[in-house]
Amino acid sequence: MGAVLLTETVKDCIPAKPEQFLRNFYNHLQEESRIEYGTDPYSGQWGAAGEGLNVLTMNPLKDYQAAQDYAEEHCDKWGPALAIPYLGTRKTYDAASKKIFDRISTASKEVEARCVKIHKEVQSTKSKTKGCTKCGSSVARKYIDQYCNCPVCGKKHSLMSASQDKYLNNAITKLKDLKKLKRSKVPGAGTCYVIAAVAPE
Ligand SMILES: [Zn+2]
Repeated sequence: MGAVLLTETVKDCIPAKPEQFLRNFYNHLQEESRIEYGTDPYSGQWGAAGEGLNVLTMNPLKDYQAAQDYAEEHCDKWGPALAIPYLGTRKTYDAASKKIFDRISTASKEVEARCVKIHKEVQSTKSKTKGCTKCGSSVARKYIDQYCNCPVCGKKHSLMSASQDKYLNNAITKLKDLKKLKRSKVPGAGTCYVIAAVAPE
């Protein structure tokens, strides 16, 4: 039974603190692989490689080839995968795009805040039940979920008043419009990573 070294390069949109980003990337690789190739521990695919990713904190190696060589020397069968830093050309979002991301984040928080506010208002009505605006069911207050959807007909926001629904939808529309804005990446020198793991086959 053999083993195969698998490598994948991560170059774009790496955040300043890359650990979680890289771990998510690796988890995603494994998950996709298991969906495509199954969970055979000898598949020779990412899904069969060790669990977990060790993000190395050493100074970045001089280039991509150096990172590949490092992977061949240091990756263990059954061991965790390695994220090996090297200096390369990577893409990052330009300043205007970063601003769009900030606005999206703010808009997304606003949607959540409005949801919470409306839910509180709906929950604090004097009567023990709330009428659904879509199917007419009386819903006991304790069954009103955080989105104020009706548990009987399932229609969204149906336990809100028209004005609460509008108030929430305005924030949702704003968020959707921001997500449509084009964001662009610019190349620059920086730390890239080779993700490497050994998979039994
Ligand atoms: Zn309903």
